[in-house]
Amino acid sequence: MTINIEDFMRIRETSLMKIKAAKDEGQKVVGTYCAYCPQEMILAAGAIPVSLCGTSEKPIAAAEEVLPRNLCPLIKSSYGFAATDTCPFFHFSDLIIGETTCDGKKKMFEIMQDIKPVHVMQLPHLHQLDAALKLWITELRRLRSTLEADLAVEISDDKLWEAIAKVNRETATVKAICDLNKGEPVLSGLDLLTVTWSRHFSSDKNSLLSMLKGLQEELAAGRPVGSAKKPRVLLTGCPVGLGSEKIIRLVEEAGGCIVAMENCSGYKTLELQADSGINDPIVALAQKYMAIPCSCMSPNPYRMELLRHMIEEFRVDAVVDLTWQACHTYNIEAFEVGRLVRDNGLPYLHLESDYSSSDLETLKIRIEALLEMVV
Ligand code: SF4
Ligand code: SF4
Repeated sequence: MTINIEDFMRIRETSLMKIKAAKDEGQKVVGTYCAYCPQEMILAAGAIPVSLCGTSEKPIAAAEEVLPRNLCPLIKSSYGFAATDTCPFFHFSDLIIGETTCDGKKKMFEIMQDIKPVHVMQLPHLHQLDAALKLWITELRRLRSTLEADLAVEISDDKLWEAIAKVNRETATVKAICDLNKGEPVLSGLDLLTVTWSRHFSSDKNSLLSMLKGLQEELAAGRPVGSAKKPRVLLTGCPVGLGSEKIIRLVEEAGGCIVAMENCSGYKTLELQADSGINDPIVALAQKYMAIPCSCMSPNPYRMELLRHMIEEFRVDAVVDLTWQACHTYNIEAFEVGRLVRDNGLPYLHLESDYSSSDLETLKIRIEALLEMVV
């Protein structure tokens, strides 16, 4: 069967129908907001994990009736969808899992508990400390108990290993697809986003894996997207999804090609695999998730390492670093990212924006100026 980008664009729609049918048959749905949520645990509980990260401006006005205006649009959008009951995936969720990543998110989850049950995992913010890993292992065990109690299931180690193998395969295949852009790009930035973002809405990991494998084969055998002469741009910073992709559009309209995205909607988690050689699946999961280089970690050396080797391997000509308004951790880390990029002799552009279209003209001018610097 031929698989193309349009199939990934349809994932949300088709999953919704499948989720509704699964709910009618008694299957549970668990909503997640962050890359730190161990989806393997949800799969091992026999439930469907769905991503609820808000990427639309629409529900923000409603969110601002409760949340401060000066807050990251991703948090406001996510909360707004919940408060207005306008996201069907949130609507179908039996339980929400949140994490104490950034201040805005963790405080928002406290308020969200009024709408749906929310289990908040306490995420330590230091990768390198043994005590931090121990706390995270305890938090994963607490999540296991919550899922078992709330969904009335037993999560066996065997089920966890099965889920781990599935997610490891999915991650490796998505990475292999993204890696195809190391040569002459086979995916535009928008297509890259469509694949990496839409997969989080799939209700069935087995069919998702065959779609990914199918796309990988098609792309490997197919023709590049004709971007050979365009400046190769790496996008880093805050997460982006369909609906909040304005920077990707602007870069590509200005004649650049986003060859890779380091953010958590892109490559940030793709090198991480749970180690099946470890005896305890919870420990394997804890190690994998603690290694995610989000700016909420302090310090966050793996992000710089990842950026360094992505710049080299994807043969990047310029870096765009996107900070959503009021995201302090990515905003401050931009200093270090800028230094790293400039030390590599490349043009760097740090943009601060929100989900509105009010700054499109200014962003366009700044992006065009960046691309002109590519020699
Ligand atoms: S940027 Fe960090 S906190 Fe936000 S969704 Fe991604 S991993 Fe989670
Ligand atoms: S983009 Fe920044 S402020 Fe917004 S949820 Fe992610 S880490 Fe928090």
